[in-house]
Amino acid sequence: MNEYKSYTLRNYNEINQLKSLTAGDRNAIEVVGNVLPFKTNNYVVENLIDWGNIPDDPIYTLTFPRKEMLLDNHFKLMEEKIGSTADKENIKTLANQIRMQLNPHPAGQAHNVPSVDGIELNGVQHKYRETALFFPSQGQTCHAYCTFCFRWPQFVGMNEIKFAMKEIELLKRYLIRHREVTDVLFTGGDPMIMKTKILSTYLHALLDDELYNLKTIRIGTKALGYWPYRFTTDNDADELLRTMETVIKSGRNLSIMAHFNHPVELSTPAVEEAIKRIRSTGAQIRTQSPILRHINDSPEIWSQMWRKQVDLNLIPYYMFVVRDTGAQHFFGIPLAEAWNVFRNAYQTVSGICRTVRGPSMSTNPGKVQVLGVSEIRGEKVFVLRFLQGRDPDWVARPFFAKYDEKAIWLDELKPAFNEAKFFFEDELEEIFHERYDFDESENFE
Ligand SMILES: *Cc1c(COP(=O)(O)O)cnc(C)c1O
Ligand code: SF4
Repeated sequence: MNEYKSYTLRNYNEINQLKSLTAGDRNAIEVVGNVLPFKTNNYVVENLIDWGNIPDDPIYTLTFPRKEMLLDNHFKLMEEKIGSTADKENIKTLANQIRMQLNPHPAGQAHNVPSVDGIELNGVQHKYRETALFFPSQGQTCHAYCTFCFRWPQFVGMNEIKFAMKEIELLKRYLIRHREVTDVLFTGGDPMIMKTKILSTYLHALLDDELYNLKTIRIGTKALGYWPYRFTTDNDADELLRTMETVIKSGRNLSIMAHFNHPVELSTPAVEEAIKRIRSTGAQIRTQSPILRHINDSPEIWSQMWRKQVDLNLIPYYMFVVRDTGAQHFFGIPLAEAWNVFRNAYQTVSGICRTVRGPSMSTNPGKVQVLGVSEIRGEKVFVLRFLQGRDPDWVARPFFAKYDEKAIWLDELKPAFNEAKFFFEDELEEIFHERYDFDESENFE
């Protein structure tokens, strides 16, 4: 058994390796850590971070607060507040004020609450026809926190924007009423933070014959990167594997959607062992990651990561563009550059690795892939397409936006050829008027 030890603002001074940090780097942890969520653990600290390369090490940057993650003015405000005689409440108020300026719930996330028999399912999101997202209330935290994460409002105690649902029965009822749903995706936070007892209660409930439409259960997790012992030496790891086997035996597909941001996360004996054990249950493992400045913004890193994943029998699935939230000024990469990293990596790996799709933005109307940059009748354009759409009919239709070297997100793009709107905009507006009382359609970030 490997003992899990987490480090937060309260006890990070116990991390021996931090003694080599400069006073400035330590101060940054304190200041930024009061605004963005900060949690890491002994596995990450001892196995993934190269302490000779601080603060630039990618995994250090992934889990430790750095000064540049806050805008200068926000940093100064918080630094002064901490240095003053302000009490905890006072610091918290300022932290919340800053957080509200960091766009805590992008892409209309807070507004997709489905209902069954007039009861709202706060822990369910059903945006794309085939797939319902399920946020089990006990799975809304993680083994460590990623500094870029858009889920961060869930971790910093702003409860009013936290998705949670206790009752799996409601989800079952919903799935019976919505036979179009073939996939349930457990997400969080990290559902693998849950004890096996709780997770398997949820999973077993979904294996009911009545839910014959449910073909695939997916579990999104970062545990392979942050705590592979979840599948090996934790005291309920074996029981977890048996639960996975039960899902497979029911005739369903079980897909672990694993988040890996850097090849170093695939390099330890512990992660290799965890992968083998998961695969031995019959479950598949697909991988995804955003492309992030300071962490994985080069084609070499991506081709190395995809190649290594396939060597370990994982299936590369998505490359995402980082959302306009949190420390986006630090992590964000223009769409044109993201596409260049994608294609330069994609070109160097074999077809087996090219199951990956991207770069993709998870926007209000849907998942939009940047297919590339092209020139049509003298106009330089982005060629885009929906990988997922609020209307399934939008999917796989190429469309065009004016090329913009600096654009980071769909809402900064203008239709090409001087058209007034993108093809989906009118319908998106209709969808919002039907489903919601307010007009959010302008906001197709
Ligand atoms: C990505 C995503 C899904 C799953 O989409 P797939 O293309 O089937 O992987 C489902 N719901 C939401 C809201 C998503 O963002
Ligand atoms: S593990 Fe996932 S949900 Fe948790 S902080 Fe990282 S990106 Fe966010």
